[in-house]
Amino acid sequence: MAQKIQAVRGMNDVLPAESQQWEYFETVLRGWLHDYGYANMRTPIVEPTPLFVRSIGEVTDIVEKEMYSFEDRLNGEQLTLRPESTAGVVRAVVEHNLLYEGGKRLYYMGPMFRHERPQRGRYRQFHQIGAEALGFGGPEVDAELILLACALWQQLGLRDIRLELNSLGQPPERLQHRAALIAYFEQHADQLDEDAKRRLHSNPLRILDSKNPAMKTLNDAAPKLLDFLGQQSLAHFNSVKAILDANGVAYTINPRLVRGMDYYNLTVFEFITDQLGSQGTVCGGGRYDYLIEQIGGKPAPAVGWALGVERVLELLKEQGAFSMETAPDVYAIVPETTALPMVLPVLQSLRGMGVSVQMHSPANSNDGMGSMKSQFKKADSSGASFALVFGPDELAQGQVTVKSLRDGQGAQRTETLADILGWGLSLQSAL
Ligand code: ATP
Ligand code: MG
Repeated sequence: MAQKIQAVRGMNDVLPAESQQWEYFETVLRGWLHDYGYANMRTPIVEPTPLFVRSIGEVTDIVEKEMYSFEDRLNGEQLTLRPESTAGVVRAVVEHNLLYEGGKRLYYMGPMFRHERPQRGRYRQFHQIGAEALGFGGPEVDAELILLACALWQQLGLRDIRLELNSLGQPPERLQHRAALIAYFEQHADQLDEDAKRRLHSNPLRILDSKNPAMKTLNDAAPKLLDFLGQQSLAHFNSVKAILDANGVAYTINPRLVRGMDYYNLTVFEFITDQLGSQGTVCGGGRYDYLIEQIGGKPAPAVGWALGVERVLELLKEQGAFSMETAPDVYAIVPETTALPMVLPVLQSLRGMGVSVQMHSPANSNDGMGSMKSQFKKADSSGASFALVFGPDELAQGQVTVKSLRDGQGAQRTETLADILGWGLSLQSAL
């Protein structure tokens, strides 16, 4: 036998049983996104490398250590597998001038790529679903996005997800805070780890985003951006909080929450659980009012979030919130190959009315369709509620046997082929 080839480390196959949960989750979330007026959008998985360097920021974990970047050897272009999708969405919005008649609410779903150390909840190919509201500057849109996520957790039955909020203010406020931060860290230079030392003068705010536990005490006592906010920034933050309060959404203020990309300003937030070990952030986002102009568009404010699909599904599993039926309604048993031309149209019609039908198919058709015994065994293990038996004698009289597989006694009756669609209809309405 030929040697097997394995998937790339940190990149997972989603097998059918699990994929069902993905589809369920995507359907629920699509419903909410639709209810809030967000329209789907799809952008390429590969973008020009400078897009990410310019938007996420040169001195960030993503750009410094995690990007899959390569040169297209056919034309020498510098390309990167997208590590996140906000930059691509903004690029597309600018490229196609989507904001020319006002703001847009958009969402995307798809794989992202970061070269991280694979572990529970952290993969090299992972999936995000993100919502972005572009061209809207008001705090009510920040709040709307947070409420959307809360509605999702609630419908999924997820518990114990806390919301952390912070405000990163505006550029002049950031500049003042930056000076204070550098002075503070310089005073404690001996406690800085390698990343922090390197970033002290290039991007000191990033030091606060450190995942190194040894940096925690130092970071906890660092000057807080919140203390540098002017009146307008504070008013924006207070409005977001007021809307959340009015909607009964609980949150805590985390002055050290800075997020991993440079493009954020004003509101930032994360939804975090303690039930997934140290990979506890299931969703994160914030305002990025300067990114559109940074990518070459006409200045326009924007806000968005992205959730990690693998982490949310892991949490659903953890909390036992999944109960899903994977079985077909009907399993079609066909003793003779010659019957197939008559059988297939019937199955097709049943499916057309929404009854899910799985047809028996032998591994090797040289031996015909297989024994009745083996077909019934397959029907049983498929989990179907009914077997339809298209035996030659029945078919000759225009009939089919309907056998119940889940009533405990295998009750069966005969239906005419003409009536089977009526039976399908009644089954459909009972489902
Ligand atoms: P973390 O702090 O855990 O590294 P992050 O701040 O880098 O997360 P974001 O860039 O904000 O993550 O992405 C939004 C969400 O995408 C995260 O909250 C998380 O749920 C998910 N996510 C990010 N990186 C990964 C990964 N490598 N594997 C799986 N999910 C991820
Ligand atoms: Mg990260």
